Amino acid sequence: MQPHFVKGQLGWIEVVTGCMFSGKTEELIRRVRRAMYARQRVVVFKPGIDDRYSTDSVGSHSGMQMRSLQITKASQIPGLVQDAQVVGVDEAQFLGPELVEICEALANEGRRVIVAGLDQDYRGVPFEPIPQLLAVAEYITKNLAICTVCGNPADRSQRLVDAGTRVLVGATDAYEARCRLHWSAEPFPRQQQLPLGENLAES
Ligand SMILES: [Zn+2]
Repeated sequence: MQPHFVKGQLGWIEVVTGCMFSGKTEELIRRVRRAMYARQRVVVFKPGIDDRYSTDSVGSHSGMQMRSLQITKASQIPGLVQDAQVVGVDEAQFLGPELVEICEALANEGRRVIVAGLDQDYRGVPFEPIPQLLAVAEYITKNLAICTVCGNPADRSQRLVDAGTRVLVGATDAYEARCRLHWSAEPFPRQQQLPLGENLAES
């Protein structure tokens, strides 16, 4: 027997934010899995470069994974949520300002909306639409990572590769978590780039 989704139930927005390597996706997956244990219907979205509604997985750096729907823009979400009681959105910083009113509408319909995303870009600039979502969310969790230089709590993403763009999609090896003291938005020499793993087929 399926539990009923009663229209008009109280919905809300939860935001899980922080820098890279702070465990945002792990936390999103953990919360969605808890809802599944309670036999609630869930759906998780993540932005992708692909132009189709392909099925994909949200995955954390630690290897936790959950099936998700890949979207290219936030406006695709309402047409795909069906009767999900819990709606998760990962990497929300890539979905633009329209995500805010979409999350509001989903919560107003009585759904639990869980959004995970970076609160700052590599220059330390607030990464919209996360600041706007923090303003309208009922619950906010800011995760900290650990500074790779000193081991103190870190809330910033240090870019290690000078690529001239705001985001390097999927290039997690181009960043490190850093504390305020050891983080810099300044340009840096290219030789700071982390070495990539060796491809044995090329040697
Ligand atoms: Zn530090």
